[in-house]
Amino acid sequence: MQIPDIKKQLTIMSVLAHYGIKPDKNDHIKCPFHEDDKPSCKIYTETNTYNCFGCGKTGDVIQFIQDKENCDKHTALKKAAELAGENTEVMGISSGKASVKEAENFAELFKMQKEGLPRSPKAQEYLRNRCLEQLQEVGYNSGVNWKKLKQCITFPLKDKNGNIVSLYGRRITESGGHGYFGDTAPPFRSY
Ligand SMILES: [Zn+2]
Repeated sequence: MQIPDIKKQLTIMSVLAHYGIKPDKNDHIKCPFHEDDKPSCKIYTETNTYNCFGCGKTGDVIQFIQDKENCDKHTALKKAAELAGENTEVMGISSGKASVKEAENFAELFKMQKEGLPRSPKAQEYLRNRCLEQLQEVGYNSGVNWKKLKQCITFPLKDKNGNIVSLYGRRITESGGHGYFGDTAPPFRSY
């Protein structure tokens, strides 16, 4: 996979989700690169970049991985390529022109998925294994009510008004347990 392809396929949101980081409604996160007691790192979803007003770290998805993993650019690229090829999908509106109706549908879907989470021991185990069970905004889509993102842990992605404009899904493997989906050895630090 070429760098432009990686960048096209890998959004900053999915990189953040990979590391268990969830931006607040103003698209800020607590900066992972310095001791940050209030969210001072801004995420730019249009350009898939970040900029920390505390420590000055800034860059794209590949730079983020490089900073986060503390690795060289080559390793970061390899990880980005694998992340981009991972079994994840983002459903929703990418143009940013979400109609109210569609946004409502996502909200409705996510509500059901949130309610579905306690009914899936497998999904709960998946979250527990990654220390993500504290996340408030997480759901599980069994595929009964929604055919897309089937058997996925789902995270809502919101616009700046707080409307859910898309859902990010992370598929749970049949085997469950630890490690990654996909059949290659996991090169990533699991969260
Ligand atoms: Zn910082």
